[in-house]
Amino acid sequence: MSLRFKVIENAITRKAVAVEAPEGRPAEYFGSHVFNNEKMLKYLPKKCYDALCATIYNGTPLDRTTADCVADGMRRWATEMGATHYTHWFQPLTGGTAEKHDSFIEPDGKGGVIEEFSGKLLIQQEPDASSFPNGGIRNTFEARGYSAWDPTSPAFIVDDTLCIPTIFISYTGEALDYKVPLLKAIGAVDKAATEVCRLFDPNVNKVFSYLGWEQEYFLVDDGLYAARPDLMLTGRTMMGHESAKNQQLEDHYFGAIPTRVMAFMKDLEFECLKLGIPVKTRHNEVAPNQFELAPVYEEMNLANDHNVLLMSIVKKVGRRHSFRVLLHEKPFKGINGSGKHNNWSLGTDTGVNLLSPGKTETEKLQFVTFLVNVMMAVWKHNGLLKAAISSATNAHRLGANEAPPAIISIFLGSQISKVIDDIEKVGGKEALKLSEKQAIKLSIAHIPELLMDNTDRNRTSPFAFTGNRFEFRAVGSSANCGGAMAALNAAMAEQLTIFKADVDKKMADGISKEDAIFDVIRGYIKECKAIHFDGNGYSDEWKAEAAKRGLDCETSVPKIFDTLVAEDTVKMYGDTGVMNEKELHARAEVEWEKYTKKIQIESRVLGDMAMNHIVPVALRYHDIVLSKIDKVTRLFGDEAANMSKYDVKLARNIAEHMLQIEELTEKMVEARKAANKIESERDKAIAYHDTVAVWFEKIRYHIDKLELIVDNELWPLPKYRELVFIR
Ligand code: ADP
Ligand code: MG
Repeated sequence: MSLRFKVIENAITRKAVAVEAPEGRPAEYFGSHVFNNEKMLKYLPKKCYDALCATIYNGTPLDRTTADCVADGMRRWATEMGATHYTHWFQPLTGGTAEKHDSFIEPDGKGGVIEEFSGKLLIQQEPDASSFPNGGIRNTFEARGYSAWDPTSPAFIVDDTLCIPTIFISYTGEALDYKVPLLKAIGAVDKAATEVCRLFDPNVNKVFSYLGWEQEYFLVDDGLYAARPDLMLTGRTMMGHESAKNQQLEDHYFGAIPTRVMAFMKDLEFECLKLGIPVKTRHNEVAPNQFELAPVYEEMNLANDHNVLLMSIVKKVGRRHSFRVLLHEKPFKGINGSGKHNNWSLGTDTGVNLLSPGKTETEKLQFVTFLVNVMMAVWKHNGLLKAAISSATNAHRLGANEAPPAIISIFLGSQISKVIDDIEKVGGKEALKLSEKQAIKLSIAHIPELLMDNTDRNRTSPFAFTGNRFEFRAVGSSANCGGAMAALNAAMAEQLTIFKADVDKKMADGISKEDAIFDVIRGYIKECKAIHFDGNGYSDEWKAEAAKRGLDCETSVPKIFDTLVAEDTVKMYGDTGVMNEKELHARAEVEWEKYTKKIQIESRVLGDMAMNHIVPVALRYHDIVLSKIDKVTRLFGDEAANMSKYDVKLARNIAEHMLQIEELTEKMVEARKAANKIESERDKAIAYHDTVAVWFEKIRYHIDKLELIVDNELWPLPKYRELVFIR
């Protein structure tokens, strides 16, 4: 495969930009920038290759000699690819990625340099980490944090830098990132699920977690973006009257992709494929200017790294095409926001998807076992799963008639619901007689029909069964999937362990294995009924019903985070070994702090724009109107009052909106000052939610009214109709 530079013209600036263009087919350049198995074979001696494989696939600790050898192989490959630097690439709780680039050069002691990379540098580094969010874990006297190599995710090259995926922990070993809990949760579910699988097939030795994400995003023209301080600083528009046309004609979804966007997408896909991200699907989304990209699902840790990587690549490629990529969950009011559906499943090393209905009787029972345990896990921890997807930005999307409400429930579809109902209806212990057993078997035999039902999609459900996987749809477009996936896997690990113990107990009482499994499952179905909801998640009736069912209905984001430190959560994460209480408290602190900061920035931006951009322009227009009234009065005497009717009305109207903006902004600033004095991060976040954010819509209302009456030529900001349509 060879790469050459292709010159393309930027559609807006008409400037030529050089894009690396593939000569060859995707299969040829896929993974060209990844230190994958092919490169390992080529650059590592056999012994070293075997040792690294043992670490990757069996978790065997890596000795120092092997580490040195791997580091050297990686460096040789990277330098041949033109890389000059390396970095430990990690995922701090800020939500983005962090990297500090060091070059390979070392002084050779003779006045020159050599290029070197040792196992020590590969394995561990001590980034100057004091400025990453840590929720109080690192005291100032012990500000050290370590990044440590994750050999299960291959190193890759971006630009001139070799990126080494790493975890990020404190000096005392606590997780400071998204990767550590994710890896631990993947391990926990593997252990617990393998035990359960062995009830059905003793040959199972490992259970993998899979994730297929679907990334939604908006594109905005670079030039227009630069003229919107709110977009630049908060990622969303905080003002702007709806465009007369937006998504009501439903003409964007799956429509033809604009040429300029297509050029960008092709470039993006090329970059992704080189990095080993198996991107597969691209299409327009519901809102104008909204698009989606989805790869083929992968092992969860790798899939998550790929999503995090994609979120930075997409922005870079966007710039090349004079686009700004918006990953914010709700950049524009009145049109759909962006999410990141997380398609989740578990599969064995024997090749069985545990969430696929299966063919044989045993596989079907195994499927139902896993399905019902998912329901139990999600039911028990519905509050936590909501906390795992909540943020200041995602709050705009949830419950806004475009995304599921801020209540977690499970959609099963008619076929699976019937199976579950049938199992439940077959009575107590003594009812496990042949005829009824027959009934259960019968209903399970129906499962394959579900494949026909695959398109039975309920877009209003936050957690939907879609034929061979669950789709967690409440995850935000800008989120690190690791937060949600770690919570889900950990909850599942806890639940499967409990299930195994329940079945073992029954078997110890002399009940047959199959009867014991049915018995336990039936009990669970009755217990967790509340979580199952196939109806319209957007309706108000559901909100009332969900509250009656005891599901977590909290809508205030800072209060939702309380679940992160609730007793059940601490026990579950503790029992599964995913996170300890200290780490959970730190995480909650970080979430509250992030929430406060986001709202604080939004409030400042809104205040500045209201008083520095909007009011002055309204004043100017007001002055024009007043001058006109003045002229008419001077020129027309008695007739003037009649002639100026509209002008006077307009002048009063503008004055009233300006006054309101000023007064409301003042109140918001006062609320902010009061909130800033609060010590506790939780209370401060609650104050920002209850007393600061509440002014945003009120202020915006008057700004948007002014936008409609002030002369279009004077208006200082690009309007929605310009922002949301790509030409
Ligand atoms: P949708 O119709 O939901 O928009 P897409 O094709 O856009 O579907 O995305 C579906 C995602 O689900 C893809 O990433 C796909 O690879 C993934 N997926 C398919 N099967 C599984 C599975 N068993 N486990 C996890 N993810 C899966
Ligand atoms: Mg989907």
